[in-house]
Amino acid sequence: MAGQDRGGFGDDELEEFYRAIEFRTEMARRPRVRPASNVSYPEHDCPTPEKIAYVSADAATAAILALSAGRRVQALSSYECVCGWWHLTRSHRR
Ligand SMILES: [Zn+2]
Repeated sequence: MAGQDRGGFGDDELEEFYRAIEFRTEMARRPRVRPASNVSYPEHDCPTPEKIAYVSADAATAAILALSAGRRVQALSSYECVCGWWHLTRSHRR
C-alpha cells in the first residue's frame, strides 16, 4: 500500500493545538514569577494586588478570550499596570 495522504487536520495536531492553549492558560494563571533577568528593576507596588497579574498583553488577551468563551460577559480589556504586569478591567464606554 502506498503512503497515506494525510492532508487533513489529524488528531495529533488537534491535541497539539489544545495543548498549546492549555499552556497559555497555565502561563496566565501562574503566580507572579518574574522572568529571569539580570536587571534588577524597582518593585512597583500594585494598586490592585487582588487582580490577577498577567505577564504580557498576549497573556491577558488569552485570558479575556477564555473568560468570554461561551458566556456573555461585559467587555473586558487589558491594561498595563504600574506594577509592570497586565490586569483585566471592564471596558468603560462613554
Ligand atoms: Zn498591578
